[in-house]
Amino acid sequence: MSLRQKDYIVATLAIGGLFVSFVKGEAGAVMLLTALALYIIWWRCPYCGKFLGRKHELHCRYCGKAVDRSAKKTKQKQENS
Ligand SMILES: [Zn+2]
Repeated sequence: MSLRQKDYIVATLAIGGLFVSFVKGEAGAVMLLTALALYIIWWRCPYCGKFLGRKHELHCRYCGKAVDRSAKKTKQKQENS
């Protein structure tokens, strides 16, 4: 899963949670908390693993590398030979 896909999931959960909270407060709160937890777990630099912060920055503030949101985090290195 790419960072962008994760971002969508978190956003969907957060927005959905807001709507659900109008109907059923507890369920909405659970969804919002889940979104927050996933955000903290997922929104990390693919290089150094540090939390990227609230701003969706293009570069990691810790290691300075460009964060490619569409790239999938895989351990396989694709080498073009
Ligand atoms: Zn980094």
